[in-house]
Amino acid sequence: MRSWNLPSRPRGLIFDLDSTLYEHPAYARFQTGVLVERLAAERGEALEVTQALLAKMREERRRLGEADTSLGNLSLALGVPIETSVAWREELIHPEEWLGPDARLDEALTALAGNFPLGLVTNNPRSIALSSLEALGVRRHFSCVIGLDDTGHSKPDPAPFALASRRLNLPPAALISIGDREDVDIRPALALGMGGLLISTIGEVYELPSFLSLPISRT
Ligand SMILES: [Mg+2]
Repeated sequence: MRSWNLPSRPRGLIFDLDSTLYEHPAYARFQTGVLVERLAAERGEALEVTQALLAKMREERRRLGEADTSLGNLSLALGVPIETSVAWREELIHPEEWLGPDARLDEALTALAGNFPLGLVTNNPRSIALSSLEALGVRRHFSCVIGLDDTGHSKPDPAPFALASRRLNLPPAALISIGDREDVDIRPALALGMGGLLISTIGEVYELPSFLSLPISRT
């Protein structure tokens, strides 16, 4: 776990969803794969052509020293409006087919939510975020869920983080953003004045109550 700029007394946490609140490499690959397939169909080209184009766009960003970005933002650069990305995701991604209840996650989030409000910021649409949280059995812990369709801007755009701060009614400096991608989940939050925690395994999420020195509640 890497951390940046942690407030001495955080008053709220903002979580990423995919590959943060669950670990499921096959589902992560499925989500990317099915969206790239849909993009290829829209462009009327072979999947390999679209894959090569996206790889070239990411390489070009690296060459220019730009941070990595989301598939939604790359698609936007190719002329696919965010509303279309939202519709494709709602049509193609069904979290309940992949995710199930996670008792250890529930235990950790119970402890965290007993101390401060929890928010979720995801590049998936809000409906997919809600069904993912339902499938994991942790929906009740989140007082604010911000999906791609709430701002029309995809992380690393700062807009969804700023909206979460407003919805939680807490200033950015009182918040910590927690996610698995530094460029997408952490950097834009730091730019707004939040703290950041980069996690690399679900085990690190289970350990957050002790990492943040919080009492464990088992209710
Ligand atoms: Mg993620």
